[in-house]
Amino acid sequence: MFQPPQAYLAKLENKEVFNSKFTRLDFELESPHEMQFQAGQYVSIQINDQGERRSYSISSSPGIAHGFEILLDVAPMGLGVTFLQNLKFGDQIKILGPLGRFGWDETDPTITLIATGSGLGPLRSLVLDLLQEKKLSRPIILYWGLRHAEDLIYQDEFQQLSTAFPNFKFHPVLSQSPNEWSLCRGRVTDCLSIHDLMPNSGYYLCGNQTMIADVITVLTQRGVAAEKIHHEKFY
Ligand SMILES: Cc1cc2nc3c(=O)[nH]c(=O)nc-3n(C[C@H](O)[C@H](O)[C@H](O)COP(=O)(O)OP(=O)(O)OC[C@H]3O[C@@H](n4cnc5c(N)ncnc54)[C@H](O)[C@@H]3O)c2cc1C
Repeated sequence: MFQPPQAYLAKLENKEVFNSKFTRLDFELESPHEMQFQAGQYVSIQINDQGERRSYSISSSPGIAHGFEILLDVAPMGLGVTFLQNLKFGDQIKILGPLGRFGWDETDPTITLIATGSGLGPLRSLVLDLLQEKKLSRPIILYWGLRHAEDLIYQDEFQQLSTAFPNFKFHPVLSQSPNEWSLCRGRVTDCLSIHDLMPNSGYYLCGNQTMIADVITVLTQRGVAAEKIHHEKFY
């Protein structure tokens, strides 16, 4: 059930600079203290006094209602990224949330999640929710496309999840992989083309508009019905 969005005040509680591309920001809700959201939803953050806003998907589990995490790709370096990067611990932000209808369909017998870059954020929230909160035993596969091996994050977490939940599989895909890289190379579409697609899967795509269009083309060519494909476009 999607809750109507409302205004919240939140404060920066933690920040982890993973590498030159990704930073994780953790916010604690101050007022109101809790936000019920569905995995896949996003918040709209006010980034200046003129009231400009940017959208950021929640990357944490909906099982934690007193705060939320976002996974920031710092590359754009526009007003939104600069505002978030300059936040100090304890700084307060104004948000609206939860927003969006990018969530999973309970009737999917299998679930295929496909992200590039920071598109991983809402899909991480889905993975945590489906495995840890909902204890789903249906097959779940996550494909995540990036350029460089140095960009990879959350590897230990996804490794631990696939050990704890044998129904979960994770495929990182590198387009500029080092010679020793033994997993999928190229773009996520290359990886999807060589793997068997799971029967009757729901497909959840998140990334930029070119990636989404390309993945939809590949899936459609392989016979996936349009109503089984859901997407969230970041830019
Ligand atoms: C529903 C939704 C959810 C989103 N969730 C996230 C999220 O979880 N994490 C996140 O990092 N961003 C997310 N975004 C993108 C985010 O809202 C901003 O667009 C982004 O942070 C750039 O804002 P900016 O003000 O720094 O740059 P702007 O000045 O607004 O944009 C500069 C340019 O960068 C492009 N751009 C935007 N994002 C990227 C990117 N990741 N890589 C390369 N170019 C980009 C824009 O199209 C624009 O051309 C989301 C967008 C939407 C619509």
